Amino acid sequence: MAASKPVSKKKKKKRKYRIHWGRILALLLVTISVPAALYMGFRYFFDPLALKTDHYIAEYKQTFDPYDNIKSVTFDSKENVVFKGDVDTQTLGTTQGSYEYRGKTYPFTIEVKDTTGPDLVLRDVTTDTAALVEDQDFIESSSDASQFTVRIDGNTTPGQSGTYPITVTAKDQYDNVTTKTAKLIRKADTTAPTIDNFKEKVSILAGDYFQPDSYPVQDDLDPAPGLYVDTSQLDPATPGVYTVNYTTSDRSGNQKTYKQEVTIEENPDLGKKICYLTFDDGPSGVTQEILDTLSANGAVGTFFVTAANPEHYDMMKKIVDQGSAIALHTYSHDYPSVYANEDAYFEDLQKISDLVEQQTGVVSDVIRFPGGSSNMVSAEYNQGIMSRLVNDVEKRGYAYFDWNVDSTDASANGVDPATLVANATSGIGMDDVVILMHDTDAKQTTAQALPQIIQAYKDAGYVFRPLTTRSRPVHHTVNN
Ligand SMILES: [Zn+2]
Repeated sequence: MAASKPVSKKKKKKRKYRIHWGRILALLLVTISVPAALYMGFRYFFDPLALKTDHYIAEYKQTFDPYDNIKSVTFDSKENVVFKGDVDTQTLGTTQGSYEYRGKTYPFTIEVKDTTGPDLVLRDVTTDTAALVEDQDFIESSSDASQFTVRIDGNTTPGQSGTYPITVTAKDQYDNVTTKTAKLIRKADTTAPTIDNFKEKVSILAGDYFQPDSYPVQDDLDPAPGLYVDTSQLDPATPGVYTVNYTTSDRSGNQKTYKQEVTIEENPDLGKKICYLTFDDGPSGVTQEILDTLSANGAVGTFFVTAANPEHYDMMKKIVDQGSAIALHTYSHDYPSVYANEDAYFEDLQKISDLVEQQTGVVSDVIRFPGGSSNMVSAEYNQGIMSRLVNDVEKRGYAYFDWNVDSTDASANGVDPATLVANATSGIGMDDVVILMHDTDAKQTTAQALPQIIQAYKDAGYVFRPLTTRSRPVHHTVNN
């Protein structure tokens, strides 16, 4: 017994200091969960809906989410809350709204406000050392719900090659700011602009009209390189071999000269007056008679054809075989569609060009506008189109011709041949006469008048020639 005493004493002592973890945990759980349950219960019954703010900011011109201001709903989901209010995010300003939930109203203020800076996407700019650079060159896109201004900071002054940091700041009218950076990379441009498909040799007859070729010019860094043509050494009236210099240049001062050898050939007709007999709107049932008259008189003309009469397409080849020129007038001759826009015009021109090539093998570069370049009718369909087209056609390598003598055969059908002769011969005395006539079934009297017209010009010493790109231009004043 005596031996067991200390043992039991020790045991007692140990028990005294044992920590009852289970009890503590239970106590803690009770201490925390009871007030929490009470709190949640209180919330559930008296204040179940919590808002994020009582002054809610809705972004200008963005979609307004009526549930976005709900922080929590005790033991429930947002869908059972009803929002009341009328929020128009297209208009800046303040309005009242509220949530209705389990019989209780939770009011709050909604302010429609622009709080975000403009969207701004930049791009780097690579250019030469001479280019003037504008803010817009760095901006791929920019937008904002309200008006905004853009400011650029950095060295954009033309100068040394190198990489320059550029900062673009966009600020909207509510002072929200977006700042982005880009790079301006300036490279020294040491290569001159170039010309593709340069014609190194050209030959024309003495007295012909010399028009420098128009070439597109390309440069690696200058988007608008120049081309200067120096014809000062050329004398188009005197046979010989000449050089015409085509010099390209860019804004960095690089230049390259392409030399064109121009041969001026002897021209047996040099100094003679030239009569160009022109016939529009064919081929027709009258074409053969016109060709017969031309052949009988050793003369040639120029036929500005259309696609109007498939039954006479075979005459196109006969025109070429006779020695006359086949030239392009229009496929449809329909003013509203031909003059709708530049693309429509060139589409129509290409169609008649293709037809002529298919019938004759000739790709013609001589044209006459429907109604002439002075026509006013095109203004009904497109303001200013003729002013643009007269330049466009030349850039594409065409020569266009109007007329300086009108036979007046278009004024009516069956105009008395004597009247046509009188009008058509009114050009006698001029150096270059381009006579307007028509080749249609309704203009029989033109064919009848033709022998006398030819004879009158012959008697006055004229030679008859087809129109080519080397014929001196006869152009009207453009009215549209
Ligand atoms: Zn016509």
